[in-house]
Amino acid sequence: MPQVVLKLPASTLEKMKKHYASSQKNCPPTALFAAKTANCTITAYKSGKVLFQGQKPEEEAEKWGTVSSPTSGGQSNSKSKNKRHAYHPDQELFVSSHIGSDEAGTGDYFGPITVAAAFVTKEQIPQLKAIGVKDSKNLSDAQITDLAKDIVAMNIPYSLLRLPNKKYNQWQRKGWSQGKMKTLLHHQALNRLLEKIAPVKPDGILIDQFSEPHVYEKHLRSENQQLQEHVYFMTKAESYSIAVATASIIARSAFVKAMNQMEFDTGLPVPKGASGKVDRAAAAIIEAYGEEKLEEIAKVHFATTEKAKKFVK
Ligand code: MN
Repeated sequence: MPQVVLKLPASTLEKMKKHYASSQKNCPPTALFAAKTANCTITAYKSGKVLFQGQKPEEEAEKWGTVSSPTSGGQSNSKSKNKRHAYHPDQELFVSSHIGSDEAGTGDYFGPITVAAAFVTKEQIPQLKAIGVKDSKNLSDAQITDLAKDIVAMNIPYSLLRLPNKKYNQWQRKGWSQGKMKTLLHHQALNRLLEKIAPVKPDGILIDQFSEPHVYEKHLRSENQQLQEHVYFMTKAESYSIAVATASIIARSAFVKAMNQMEFDTGLPVPKGASGKVDRAAAAIIEAYGEEKLEEIAKVHFATTEKAKKFVK
């Protein structure tokens, strides 16, 4: 049965009790009152929670509070939980002098993970937009490379970390998840950038969200680290924040550069992502250099390694 739960102040509960006086029905002992209308039944509790249950619970509930989409059972706000948490930034952050951070290379079998953080003042935001800084997912590798040069030429303070594959594979073997690796890389990139721009302090720090903030904090605690001040998390942050878009371009461009270097060094194609094409490229690397070579240039725990070995046999 569809239901909506609202948490309402005592004053509203009083008004509701009067409003529904004529349609009151027997209520459970734990409830303040209960009523039934054409739309649904309404049960109010001392905690301030009001349960609307029946055919059209939202029609009744929206008379009293803000309704998120109703669900068939369970919490009414479970859907919005993913998007809105205590670390969600206010709109003002996007137009303020803030730091953004983002990473590249996490879903790619070949190549390092790169993480960048960039500090953009509010005066620089229009300038960066003007040179074409935007969500790097909508940019080609060539555009990203050019934009990264322009960003550097503008003297935008940034910090960039590259996690070599050897180190990645070591961390992975000692049980670190990619989430933990990314957390510590973002954290370190942010610390370095904060040091670089000191005594200037940003109005806030926005991390392109890759895990729930409480998980990020858990990973920090496991390495005795602490979240910096005014840190916010948001998914798809690069489409809202020019600082995150800038960081994303710097990280992506470093990743592209590393991939080009690997192709140059091996003389073989080193494709991005993880696909059949990547499986065959890995097989060609094994044939030319032996399996050990993958240690240096790939994330060896990906299923790609086993698939490539089958090609070789
Ligand atoms: Mn991202």
